[in-house]
Amino acid sequence: MEVVLTSQVLVLNRFWQAVNVVGIKRAFSLLVKGHADVIHQEEGDFQLYDFNQWLDATEMETIPERECVHTVRHIIRLPKVIILKFFDRLPIKEVKFHRKNIFERDKFHCQYCGKLFKESGLNLDHVIPRHHGGRTSWENIVTSCVGCNSRKADRLPHEAGMRLVRKPVRPKWRPFMSVAQNKDKHRSWDYFLKPLQGG
Ligand SMILES: [Zn+2]
Repeated sequence: MEVVLTSQVLVLNRFWQAVNVVGIKRAFSLLVKGHADVIHQEEGDFQLYDFNQWLDATEMETIPERECVHTVRHIIRLPKVIILKFFDRLPIKEVKFHRKNIFERDKFHCQYCGKLFKESGLNLDHVIPRHHGGRTSWENIVTSCVGCNSRKADRLPHEAGMRLVRKPVRPKWRPFMSVAQNKDKHRSWDYFLKPLQGG
């Protein structure tokens, strides 16, 4: 029963964009009222079910106990993703400018030597140093390994004979960055939590 009570459901707006994560009770309430449908991944395809179809589909299959909830009349499979039928907004949020998110933007790769590092091996570097008027902003801060950081020191990249792998930009907000980093998220959420592509 514990699994059932703590089970989390990803909520999409009607454009299939992640907008929320709710508990299972809230998810069922939205389904029963007809405000949402279940999205279920089957062999790489996504199938949509309204609540009654979902009940029927559950009854046709054998489902592991921990993935079901029992009611007086039914055994219901726990949905992992639901889609709201009438909600078309996307929460507008900016990615917070801090260390972790800069590493995340640069995918933990040093922007000078291009190599992948653990967080402990990384620093933040002002591309244009502060004493040259460089700002502390998304466009002027990059992930740098400790080695490259000390090599570059307080110089401009070309003065140190170094080049950026990629021009730093402000990242687009992607829904639920924190959910995407959560180890407990369900596999089937991945598709909906991928970073937004630029453009
Ligand atoms: Zn480096």
